[in-house]
Amino acid sequence: MPIATVNPVDGETVRTFDALSGDEVERRLALADRTFATYRTTSFAERARLLRAAADLLEKEEAEIGRTMTLEMGKTYAAARAEAAKCVKAMRWYADRAEGLLADEHPEQRDVEDSGARAARVVYRPLGVVLAVMPWNFPLWQVVRFAAPALMAGNVGLLKHASNVPQTALYLGDLFRRAGFPEGAFQTLLVPSSAIEAIPRDPRVKAATLTGSEPAGRSVAAIAGDEIKRTVLELGGSDPYLVLPSADVEAAARTAVTARVQNNGQSCIAAKRFLVHADAYEEFARAFVAGVAALRVGDPMDEHTDVGPLSSEQGRADLEELVDDAVAKGARVLTGGKRPEDRPAGWFYEPTVLADITPEMRIHREETFGPVATLYRFTGLDEGIGLANDTSFGLSSNVWTRDAAEKERCVRDIEAGGVFFNGMTASHPALPFGGVKRSGYGRELAGHGIKEFCNVTTVWEG
Ligand code: NDP
Repeated sequence: MPIATVNPVDGETVRTFDALSGDEVERRLALADRTFATYRTTSFAERARLLRAAADLLEKEEAEIGRTMTLEMGKTYAAARAEAAKCVKAMRWYADRAEGLLADEHPEQRDVEDSGARAARVVYRPLGVVLAVMPWNFPLWQVVRFAAPALMAGNVGLLKHASNVPQTALYLGDLFRRAGFPEGAFQTLLVPSSAIEAIPRDPRVKAATLTGSEPAGRSVAAIAGDEIKRTVLELGGSDPYLVLPSADVEAAARTAVTARVQNNGQSCIAAKRFLVHADAYEEFARAFVAGVAALRVGDPMDEHTDVGPLSSEQGRADLEELVDDAVAKGARVLTGGKRPEDRPAGWFYEPTVLADITPEMRIHREETFGPVATLYRFTGLDEGIGLANDTSFGLSSNVWTRDAAEKERCVRDIEAGGVFFNGMTASHPALPFGGVKRSGYGRELAGHGIKEFCNVTTVWEG
């Protein structure tokens, strides 16, 4: 894929960028390594000062970077600005909390004595240069979610961003530099994915984090595994959205619309499979389909638009294939199911709800990365949880119920990194984020996220 800004609204190439030469990649790797040698010794107070300066800059530039994100990947301008604001919040959260999150830990004295020590403690030291391979869907947030904790822990970052968001990628490298971070603390590498194998193999790179598809995750993790390096993987999801009869079904249906089409449907934690108890099915289906059908598809810069285009022609083709396969095998289209006729240019797709899904359909197993929902009916909680778990993914889950016993069952039995009751999955700096099964491993955000790229060091004194 060329490194280029291509407007998804009309498919026009706005600007192309040359990939960095091998020599330039080497220069930046060497710089990152040198920078780490001193940056690792800086105090939390100094790192926090720099991160707050980056947050202040981003806050001032929210409108401008918002426009860039909308231009490069098609999310609505309102969503792009909200994303920038969320990044500001996360930066300040880690600036305020990192020192506490990484404070030394002291085992119980009786255990210290049992180990034969006079004193023992655990300290969190940075690992070094971390490679971040990031996707286009939340082009600012996915990166900041890694960078804020990594920089506060004393690591330095190298960003290989998705090839369709080069201007956002360059903005990020520039942002941290302008905030005053040392040259080399956070650098953007404009390189295609075909040319990055040497980076996680390089001995100066100590770890890697990747958010994206399963093949990309497998590839980077295989290289890192070969080199015995730590990885965090945040891959796809096909989150279930269970609705049980005790729920406020109207509210469940209203939230379901946003849960599915947020970010033009291109979110790993979007609810994708809507599993509804038979006693609530008719009411939910009616309200949900009406809500999806009422969405306004259009120019993402227009404030009245709910759903913009998909980010790429390939992304829309992949989605269309899943829908067409399902329909050919008997799925019923309750709304949508095709390209909007009034939008011949660009990569638009009508918000869609499909019912009568069967296991033979690809859409039953594969992630729909776009505004397409699948609707299922079940009759008991066992069947509902069985359907929720009938996926290779395990990122998050949503359950609508007012019944305490049902909640306990769901927390115990749903195979996912999150269970969100009576609402939709959303990330927050204080809540760990990540999945199980093919959704990946490791956690981002909260204390768990900042510790992923630390050397957990035991200090023992005899
Ligand atoms: P990719 O996984 O291909 O892209 C994500 C990032 O990984 C990009 O920076 C990409 O770079 C890089 N990458 C791709 N292949 C490799 C590789 N072999 N080695 C190293 N880096 C690699 O996602 P796509 O954009 O192709 O989207 C495809 C599907 O992935 C979506 O339909 C969705 O299912 C899933 N996805 C999930 C996301 C999430 O939030 N969990 C985000 C994005 C996608 P480059 O752009 O240069 O290829």
